Amino acid sequence: MSIQTGSAQEAEKVTWLACIPFASVHLMCLAAFWTGVRVQDIAVCVGLYFVRMLALTTGYHRYFSHRTFKTGRAFQFLLALGGTLCVQKGVLWWAGHHRHHHRYSDAPEDIHSPTLRGFWWSHLGWILCAKYEATPIDNIRDFARYPELRWLNKHYLVPPVALAVALFFIGGFSMLVWGFFISTALLWHGTFTINSLSHVFGNRRYKTTDTSRNNWLLALITCGEGWHNNHHYHQNTANQGWFWWEWDPSYYLLKLMAWAGLVWDLRTPSDAVKYAHLRYDAQERATLRKSSRFFARPSVARVRAAGEKVREAIAAARETIPVEEPAP
Ligand SMILES: [Zn+2]
Ligand SMILES: [Zn+2]
Repeated sequence: MSIQTGSAQEAEKVTWLACIPFASVHLMCLAAFWTGVRVQDIAVCVGLYFVRMLALTTGYHRYFSHRTFKTGRAFQFLLALGGTLCVQKGVLWWAGHHRHHHRYSDAPEDIHSPTLRGFWWSHLGWILCAKYEATPIDNIRDFARYPELRWLNKHYLVPPVALAVALFFIGGFSMLVWGFFISTALLWHGTFTINSLSHVFGNRRYKTTDTSRNNWLLALITCGEGWHNNHHYHQNTANQGWFWWEWDPSYYLLKLMAWAGLVWDLRTPSDAVKYAHLRYDAQERATLRKSSRFFARPSVARVRAAGEKVREAIAAARETIPVEEPAP
């Protein structure tokens, strides 16, 4: 049942059978050209995107993967149910794989490192791979002991199918297309950016052993998960935006739930963690700045260095061209 960690790259192939449901959801989005669109369809599409994203970030990610707060057994089940509506497989599967990512991030064992394996693999290839189909139960034994979670993990398609059917009966075919298929496709790609783009684009504030970055745009799309460098630096905090300007609606929702008594013991970073970057010396800061690609401006030195490289390449190529002797 457990995933292999030693040779992550062997036998990693996208299974075309797994692609069929994935591609079908995308194809069904095209039905919008036929059904047309109403204001209520757009409202349900956007509403279900954000409600489900919040269920995923607070439940699947911050609770089941990282245990950043506490709750009772009934609300724990509701969190799992909300995350299951996102059609990203079962809660134990998701959280188990995610824990593995943190353990080995950007090391050869990491299942979805964009730095080592490229954009498409990290974005969706690994999800469509037979090797990672099973739930890595060894990584999630703490939650696997609950029978209701094991049931939901096994029957993860039941809640989303029920949602799709309900949308069809409430708002007809166009609400099914917009509220379920388009909303779900957007939700998938919004979530997947955290595995792909947030290890490539953005700023690095903290020294971590991976390439995680903070990116405000991805934080907007993912309700606060774009502060990925913060998160990799200290993964056990209920908030991922650590400063007031770091937009984190998932945490605002958790605060609201704590106020209502649904969750408690929200863990937040200590000042030593939060301000760790202030203790870095000039050399360490320069290294972090260098690795920030998204906001990096082309500097004169960088353009000169690139020009120098081109000149060297031309000179090297010239040396290999045979010089013709002039005819006598
Ligand atoms: Zn990551
Ligand atoms: Zn995480």
